[in-house]
Amino acid sequence: MALTLPDLPYAKNALEPHISAKTLEFHHGKHHKAYVDNANKLLEGTGLEKEDTEKIIKEVAGDASRIGIFNNVAQAWNHSFFWTCLKPGGGGRPTGQVAKKIEVDLGSYEKFAESLKNAGITQFGSGWAWLVLKEGKLEVMKTANADTPIAHGIKPLLTIDVWEHAYYLDYQNRRPDFLQAVIDNLIDWDFVNSRLA
Ligand code: MN
Repeated sequence: MALTLPDLPYAKNALEPHISAKTLEFHHGKHHKAYVDNANKLLEGTGLEKEDTEKIIKEVAGDASRIGIFNNVAQAWNHSFFWTCLKPGGGGRPTGQVAKKIEVDLGSYEKFAESLKNAGITQFGSGWAWLVLKEGKLEVMKTANADTPIAHGIKPLLTIDVWEHAYYLDYQNRRPDFLQAVIDNLIDWDFVNSRLA
């Protein structure tokens, strides 16, 4: 099996009240699991089964005949990455190298936070908001559906899932409130610093 469903790095209720146990139960246990299961089914017999996930994403990106593989493998990667970007008691101003780099590359923490929130709000339909390292500089970007910076040779440092399944049980249509809650309370800046190092 090329892909596995990782355990959440915290208890299902650990991110409450910002993300409920019920949301994580469905988001990790049903949605993420389905991407992993579908990816493994679609990879059978392709010769890619044992490849590294990031390598598979780069290999099939842009190939219309393998869009199903791309969608499921990229979504499996994006979700595994998303869980590690969160922690209870996180969010707010970062420390360390990323704090300095945000000031240099993006102006200020406030500008960064606004930009990340805006990327998530303005992603029409399903997708992801990201902080990435591109040509040595921090950038905020958004991707649609399963698309991922990995497919474009850009290094992801942080992501927020803005598919409706990420927030609908807790916030219904209030995607901006979900984004604000994650930014203020859940981002694991130690993890982001480790990606930057
Ligand atoms: Mn999701």
